[in-house]
Amino acid sequence: MSNIVAIVGRPNVGKSTFFNRLVERKQAIMDNESGVTRDRQYGEAQWIGKKFTVIDTGGYVTGSNDIFEKEIRKQVKEALKEATVILFMVDCHTGLTDMDKDFANVVREVGKPVFVVANKADNTEKSYMAGEFYSMGFDEVFSMSSASGSGTGEVLDAVVALFPEDDHKDPFEGVPRLAILGRPNAGKSSFLNALLGDERTIVTDIAGTTRDSINTHYKLYGKDFILTDTAGLRKKTKTKDDIEFYSTIRAIQALQDSDVCIVMIDATRGFESQDMQIIGLAHKNKKGIMIMVNKWDLIEKDGKTHDKFKKEIQEKLGPLDYIPIIFTSVTEKQRIFQAIELATKIYFSRTEKVTTSALNEAMLKEIEKYPPPALKGKHIKIKYATQLPTYTPTFAFFCNLPQYIKPPYERYLENRLREHFDFEGVPVKLVFRKK
Ligand code: GDP
Ligand code: GDP
Repeated sequence: MSNIVAIVGRPNVGKSTFFNRLVERKQAIMDNESGVTRDRQYGEAQWIGKKFTVIDTGGYVTGSNDIFEKEIRKQVKEALKEATVILFMVDCHTGLTDMDKDFANVVREVGKPVFVVANKADNTEKSYMAGEFYSMGFDEVFSMSSASGSGTGEVLDAVVALFPEDDHKDPFEGVPRLAILGRPNAGKSSFLNALLGDERTIVTDIAGTTRDSINTHYKLYGKDFILTDTAGLRKKTKTKDDIEFYSTIRAIQALQDSDVCIVMIDATRGFESQDMQIIGLAHKNKKGIMIMVNKWDLIEKDGKTHDKFKKEIQEKLGPLDYIPIIFTSVTEKQRIFQAIELATKIYFSRTEKVTTSALNEAMLKEIEKYPPPALKGKHIKIKYATQLPTYTPTFAFFCNLPQYIKPPYERYLENRLREHFDFEGVPVKLVFRKK
């Protein structure tokens, strides 16, 4: 059962502005009833790791007062019936209106938890205005600004605190899911077998749910992890064509189901364009990534071979140079432990949260050392940075002219960020916001 947050309120108070701020993915539902076209929007959002569905009850096309009244009740009630929590939005600029009072009556009848959200409290003076909304008789009135985001955190804290404890919690939450990907003959099955070799390492076989993949839960070398294996991999159904392998639905599903992708390469064949394609896909999906160069035992080596090989791969990776490379021999059992250790480390770095103070202490110095180049005679000032509470590590940099920050400078910031904080194997995202 998912938690549902419904945003209601008269037109123009800022519902969709808030909705757009919250949702990562959205679906517009078009209703066309009684000649009135409106959209009710649904979207997926999360706050401090808690997921929920947001419904924006949309705007109303007002006709005569009576019809309006009827429509309000019908539409709003439908959304409210589904809701866990109701956010009843009002506007500090205009203050309390008759239409707000109408809404208050509708909302009250539903008998669900309601927070009054006084929006457009863009400054302190405006937020004092919020006081008058207490007269509607609800317990909680929050003031916030959908446009700038200020005060929204307090609202969301209160909202998620009302969610019931999740009894359908994934028992494996917090356990890294690893996928082993690679061209035929790279050594994937051998690697799995080496791990499976010791039957005691297997904790449970988690039955494939809707998909064909087999997830096996391991406790091995003191590490807890799940291998999102595909039936195809274990049964060694080999496709002739390399590209065909990578495009098999199973390989792609294993990638999508995983937290970290281990891309295995046959050292005797080297790093090829298909490998780069799968890495590109993992990067696009914001998965943790590492490269495992296997069959290292078959390579004739001198003191420089390792570095040379690594450099060649790094050149092909280009800007994706955050991806670590490990050299293994599955048959000789060389560095198998380190490979698993690296994959689980990547998983944990991906969930890392950098404190705002540590982030600013490190990054503001780097920005001072090399400020963003001026554009069209305008100076760009980055004032501070903060990590957003998203699943993929995302860092917001607040500045006066965010649209003037160009990719090379973004790259500079990402590189410095990676020097200060360990995000090896983890794709990170930088966003620039106006302040
Ligand atoms: P809805 O009809 O309730 O969905 O309202 P919208 O989200 O479309 O917002 C209506 C207008 O209010 C738009 O022009 C928004 O830019 C503006 N608005 C929304 N939130 C804020 C806010 O926090 N402060 C200010 N000053 N304007 C806002
Ligand atoms: P898959 O198609 O990726 O699952 O590859 P397999 O695990 O079936 O391995 C293909 C062949 O490579 C088999 O003959 C393995 O014994 C061999 N192989 C796998 N890993 C290594 C390794 O580290 N060194 C050597 N010399 N051979 C390996």
